[in-house]
Amino acid sequence: MNNNGKMGQLVVVSGPSGSGKDTILNEIFKMDPDIIPSVSATTRPPRKGEINGVNYYFMSVEEFEERIKRDEFLEYVQYGDNYYGTLKPQLEEKLKTGKTVVLIIDVRGAVNVRKVYPTAKTIFILPPTESELEKRLRCRESETETSLLKRLEVAKDEIKRVNEYDYAVVNDELEKAVEKVYNIIKSDNC
Ligand code: ADP
Ligand code: 5GP
Repeated sequence: MNNNGKMGQLVVVSGPSGSGKDTILNEIFKMDPDIIPSVSATTRPPRKGEINGVNYYFMSVEEFEERIKRDEFLEYVQYGDNYYGTLKPQLEEKLKTGKTVVLIIDVRGAVNVRKVYPTAKTIFILPPTESELEKRLRCRESETETSLLKRLEVAKDEIKRVNEYDYAVVNDELEKAVEKVYNIIKSDNC
């Protein structure tokens, strides 16, 4: 809660791997200190430059499964060979600050979050084309060939679910996509 006792707004952002979710949201986090990220837990290893507690809470499968048993997750999924999940206490603490908290999670996680937070605003980020998505994922150089192909396969199913979201934004020109997503986050719910 902020000084007025108001809980922050929750925003859920999904979209296929490589569509530009992190790039767009990182710009927005820099622009506006009242919009902050939720930090998920994952069992995937950190990518070059990723920091524990900033990009993710990186943990072993054993620790993640222990936390599942302790009912610490608002939602969690297996994506590829790894677990990803939203830790309830860290999210609740952030919402209590009264700031807008953004969850960047997959479509299955978004469904589960909406069950608990039905007023969450949901945004889907689309790549301009499938071939551009593949190009961006390859340029990111974060995946093995197997993981990259799996992500492209998952992307096809994820894109079919764009209609489940309140808003969809095509990330063609980065600057325009940032502006659109920012305006959506700042707009009143209607
Ligand atoms: P996601 O978080 O959705 O998996 P990223 O934000 O990591 O995607 O973006 C994937 C790659 O595409 C990154 O290398 C990023 O720099 C690049 N990228 C993001 N948006 C654009 C854009 N509008 N035009 C060109 N490249 C982009
Ligand atoms: P990446 O490995 O590219 O960081 O993330 C892979 C996928 O997992 C992305 O679609 C990302 O949005 C999703 N993801 C990240 N954290 C979470 C989470 O806490 N819960 C769910 N359901 N998905 C997540």
